[in-house]
Amino acid sequence: MSKSLQAIRGMNDILPEQTPLWRYFEGTVARLLDNYGYKQIRMPIVEFTELFKRSIGEVTDIVEKEMYTFEDRNGDSLTLRPEGTAACVRAVLEHGLTGAGQPQKLWYIGPMFRHERPQKGRYRQFHQIGLEVFNIDGPDIDAELIVLTWRLWGLLGIRDAVKLELNSLGTSESRGRYKVALVEYLSAHLDKLDEDSQRRLKTNPLRVLDTKNADTQAVLVNAPKMADYLDDESRIHFEGLKARLEAAGIPFVINTKLVRGLDYYSKTVFEWVTDKLGAQGTVCAGGRYDGLVEQMGGKPTTGVGFAMGIERLILLLETLEQVPEEISRQVDVYLCAFGEAAELAALALSEKVRDQLPNLRLQVNAGAGSFKSQFKKADKSGALYALILGEDELAQQVIGFKPLRGQGEQQNIAFDALAAHLATCVVQG
Ligand code: ATP
Ligand code: MG
Repeated sequence: MSKSLQAIRGMNDILPEQTPLWRYFEGTVARLLDNYGYKQIRMPIVEFTELFKRSIGEVTDIVEKEMYTFEDRNGDSLTLRPEGTAACVRAVLEHGLTGAGQPQKLWYIGPMFRHERPQKGRYRQFHQIGLEVFNIDGPDIDAELIVLTWRLWGLLGIRDAVKLELNSLGTSESRGRYKVALVEYLSAHLDKLDEDSQRRLKTNPLRVLDTKNADTQAVLVNAPKMADYLDDESRIHFEGLKARLEAAGIPFVINTKLVRGLDYYSKTVFEWVTDKLGAQGTVCAGGRYDGLVEQMGGKPTTGVGFAMGIERLILLLETLEQVPEEISRQVDVYLCAFGEAAELAALALSEKVRDQLPNLRLQVNAGAGSFKSQFKKADKSGALYALILGEDELAQQVIGFKPLRGQGEQQNIAFDALAAHLATCVVQG
């Protein structure tokens, strides 16, 4: 195929055989978030470039090298959203959703775009489900975010494969004091730092903690620790969070090097990581961003949130073989009809049945075909039952009912009794 007719590298089609798993995952999360009282918000996929620069920070990986930025026909600089928090905060401010200190518990789902090197678990268009909570500043809500993800891992059957890492970044003041100490220490070991870290030391020193370089990691062993610089307020907040996680029975480890890639975090940061997906091991990450809304021009408004990467969680479900079998069956009943008169009757009958059983997954054969070919399609559809309508059945106003997966005998059912009969044998979701 010519190059222009192929999908862009790192941007994937999600094919029909994959969508049942996506819908199962998304449905499970949506139900869970409903149950915890979160409301969905939907933002545009494109925003002014300035929004991301102002919120994510100019010297982050995302803004420095990962954004899809272009000029539109008006000459405005626009960017495909690389994450959801910035747009969510913008929307909340624009519509006054957090006015007068009103709390908001929001969630969103959708594609995000980052120009990264595509590999397993890392794509250029990927999908996130994110949560953002505004105007609730205690550790109770930080704990709720973590507790509900823990519940989600339980529902999905992947609890044993994920680990919670936790850190506190303090307030911007205490982080400022820590930065000074860190820069002083690292500057004394400048020659042992990798090139990237030397650069970051000047632009965004906390990011040095995030390095994958072994030599720099060795230098970091004796570096000052954030925990020793935490202000009282952040320390109490962090203790409150840990106490709640312990009360809820959620295991965690403190990772003092966890800083997250975005500039806007404060106090709590956390990541759910797995060792089952190779290098792309973070499946869900977030934290508190008490200064962000003000930084973006709003009144002081606290915030905390996270985003999970859907592709990585789907990969994890597949890797752990935690894909429920029943999700791939999308047809309950397949109706075969033979000849024009039977097809007309079948259409009328099937629509009546749909009126009575709105959740029934009934596929009516299209494209005619011999008995053998229709039957083959019925079987391939995954349906539990086939309905058969030929001239003989039509004359008697009955339809053949044939179990396809070995549950019971074939029998004829009167047209009028069909919906009631199907209701007894098909579990309706
Ligand atoms: P990483 O360190 O893996 O690059 P990140 O810190 O850039 O992740 P966040 O911005 O916190 O990621 O996004 C939250 C989640 O979204 C990640 O934990 C991950 O599950 C997912 N994610 C981020 N970037 C990608 C990507 N390019 N492809 C697939 N999933 C991604
Ligand atoms: Mg990244």
